[in-house]
Amino acid sequence: MADLRTLSRKEEEYFFNTYKRLKLLVERGEGCYLFTPDGRKILDMFGGLAVNLLGYNHPAINKAIGEQVKKYIHLSNFFYQEKPIQLAEKILSLSGFKKIFFTNSGTEAAEASIKIIRKYFKGTEKIELISFTGSFHGRTMGALSLTARKKYREDYKPLLVDVLNVGYNSIKSLEKNAGEKTAAVFVECLQGEGGVNLISKDFADKITELKNKFGFLLVADEIQSGVGRTGKLHAFEHFGLKPDLVLLAKGIGGGLPLGAVLGAESIADVLTPGSHGSTFGGNPVASASGLAVLIELEKGVMENARKIGEFLISKLVGLKSDYPDKIKDVRGMGLMIGIELSFDGQTVVEKMMEQNVLVNCTNGNVIRLLPPLILSENEVKIFIEKFKNTISRL
Ligand code: PLP
Repeated sequence: MADLRTLSRKEEEYFFNTYKRLKLLVERGEGCYLFTPDGRKILDMFGGLAVNLLGYNHPAINKAIGEQVKKYIHLSNFFYQEKPIQLAEKILSLSGFKKIFFTNSGTEAAEASIKIIRKYFKGTEKIELISFTGSFHGRTMGALSLTARKKYREDYKPLLVDVLNVGYNSIKSLEKNAGEKTAAVFVECLQGEGGVNLISKDFADKITELKNKFGFLLVADEIQSGVGRTGKLHAFEHFGLKPDLVLLAKGIGGGLPLGAVLGAESIADVLTPGSHGSTFGGNPVASASGLAVLIELEKGVMENARKIGEFLISKLVGLKSDYPDKIKDVRGMGLMIGIELSFDGQTVVEKMMEQNVLVNCTNGNVIRLLPPLILSENEVKIFIEKFKNTISRL
C-alpha cells in the first residue's frame, strides 16, 4: 500500500482541489472499526458520513453484492430488473409511500423532487420553494439553491430564483413567507450539516397547518437522518409530519451510490415516460446492497439505533453536567447526535483521533456523531471514556 505522503502528493497533482482529507490511511474496516496499515484500530463514530449503517465488511451486504455481480452489474433502464423492484417493494411497504424514483446520490434526489414539484404545479401561480436557514440539500444547482449555507452557495450565483430562505423553527418567518405562491417546503427534521438541529413540534405543526391552508407540497430531506438512523425509518415520523415527497440517499445503498425519491399518492402520476431519468439510478448491485440493509434494519438494527442512541445521549448529558462550561448542548435522536462545545471543535477531533476515535466537527463547534447503527454499549463506553479524557484536558 502506498504511503500517506505519496498519496497526498499525487492527489494534489491530479485532483481538483475540493476535499480536505484526514491524515489517516485506512487498510480495511470491520464492524465499527477502521484498521490502518501501521496497526491502529480506530473506533469510527462518523460511519462514512452517515452511509455505513451496518458498519464495515457486513456479511449480508457482501453476499448480496457478490451474488448480483455474478449475474450482471448493469443492463440499462430499458430492462425490468428484479433487485431494484424488490428494493422498491421493501421501501414502499415499510414507509407507506406509493411510488419511488431511484437516483445515485442525495443531490440528484433533491433535483428530481424539484422537477416533480415544477411539473405538478405547471401553469399555476405556485412557483416558490421554501427552505430553511442552516439547511443542506445538495450541491447541484437546484439543490444548491435550496441549501441555505452561504459558504456553499456564494461562488455559484445566479442560482434558481423563487427560492425563499426562512428561519428554521421560526413560526413568524414561515407565516410571513408561505402563501398562495408556495409550491413546496423542504425540511430536514434533524439538520445535519447545520449543526444537528431538531425541528420543534410547534414548527412542524405550523408547516402542516400552512400546507393545509395553501396546498403546497412538503418535501422531507431524510438523506442524512433517514433509513433508521433516529430509531424510526424517517426522522419526520417523530414529529407527526406527512410529506408528499421524501429524499433518501447515503445509507440506503449500504455504501454503494444510491438515492431515492419517495412519493405519496397525491403526486404518484406526475412523471411520465421520458420526463425524468438516470443511466445508473437504481443500479442492481446498489439495489441488492440496499435490500440487505433494510432486511437487517428490520431484524433489529433500527431498534439498536434507538436503544444505543438513548444510552449514548444519556451519557453525554451526564458529561454536560460535569463540564457545563465546555459542553453547551447535547442534541439529536437515535445515532445522529450533536455535542455543541463552547469552543472550536477541531482540537477535539484531533485529540480524539490521537486516542483512536474518529469524530466529525460541523458548524465550527458541534461534534457530530453518525456511527454505524450496529454500535454496541461497550463501544459507547469506549467513546465516552475517551471523550471525557479529551474534554477534561482542554
Ligand atoms: N441532503 C442532506 C440532508 C445531506 O446531508 C446531504 C449530504 O450530506 C445531501 C442532501 C446531499 O447528498 P449527496 O452528497 O449524496 O449528493
